[in-house]
Amino acid sequence: MFKKIIIITSILLISLIAFMSCSKKENKLYVGTNAEFVPFEYREGDQIVGFDVDLINEVAKIIKQDIEFVDMAFDGLLPALQSKKIDIIIAGMTATEERKKFVNFSEPYYNSQQSILVHKDNNDIIGFDNLEGKNVGVVLGYTGDLIVSEMSNVNAQKYGATSEAVIALKSKKVDAVVLDYEPAKQYFNQNDDLKLILTDSVNEEYAIAMRKEDTELLKKVNDALNTIKENGTYDMLIEKYFNAGL
Ligand code: GLN
Repeated sequence: MFKKIIIITSILLISLIAFMSCSKKENKLYVGTNAEFVPFEYREGDQIVGFDVDLINEVAKIIKQDIEFVDMAFDGLLPALQSKKIDIIIAGMTATEERKKFVNFSEPYYNSQQSILVHKDNNDIIGFDNLEGKNVGVVLGYTGDLIVSEMSNVNAQKYGATSEAVIALKSKKVDAVVLDYEPAKQYFNQNDDLKLILTDSVNEEYAIAMRKEDTELLKKVNDALNTIKENGTYDMLIEKYFNAGL
C-alpha cells in the first residue's frame, strides 16, 4: 500500500514537473544568434556575450519576456526562424531587401560597412576594384558573401565561419577576406600579419529579425528599442563594447 502511494506520488510529481517545463517553454522566446561576430556576439568560456546579447537582454527585461539563446551557423538562422525553432534573430544581421521578403526587421540598432582584410605584405589590394582575378574569402550567407559573389571575375571562397576565412587568409589560401568592419577590426587588432582596408561599400543597418506574422512582438521590440535609446542604455552599451578598448 505504502509502495503504491509512493509510486502514484512520484508519477504525479513527474507529470507536474513536465507540465511546468512545457508551459514555461511556451512563453519563452528563443533567440537565434551566431556567436562568432565580435563584439556583437562571441563566446567567453561557455557564455555567449556581446553588444547584441546585452541589447536583447535589455529588450527582454522591458517586454517582460524570458529568453534563451540558440547558437547556430549564420546561414541557418533565417530557416530556423521560419520553422519556429527560434523566435527572434539578433546576430549583427543586416536588414537587406532580400531578407525583408521573408522576415520583419525591427528599427535598425547599428550601422556598419564591409571592409577588406589582406595579408600585411599584400600591396595590390586597396579596394573592391582590386579583387578582380583574386581568391576572396567570405562567410556563407553574410552580406560580404552576397557582395563578392555578384562581382565578376572574383573567385569567392565560401567558409562556414569567420575564423575559418581568417585562417585561410593567414595561410595565404585566399588573397583577401571581405567582412563587416567591426569583427574585421578585431581580427586586425589581434593579428600582426593582417592589414585592414576600409571601403566605400553601402551602409548596412543591423536589425532584429522576427517572423512576418509576429507583428505584436515587432511592435513591442521596437518600443523597447526606443526606450533603450532614450534612457541612455544604448549609449552605455556602445561605450562598453566600442569605446572601452575591448
Ligand atoms: N552583417 C552581415 C550580414 O548580415 C554579417 C552578420 C554576421 O555575420 N553575424 O550578413
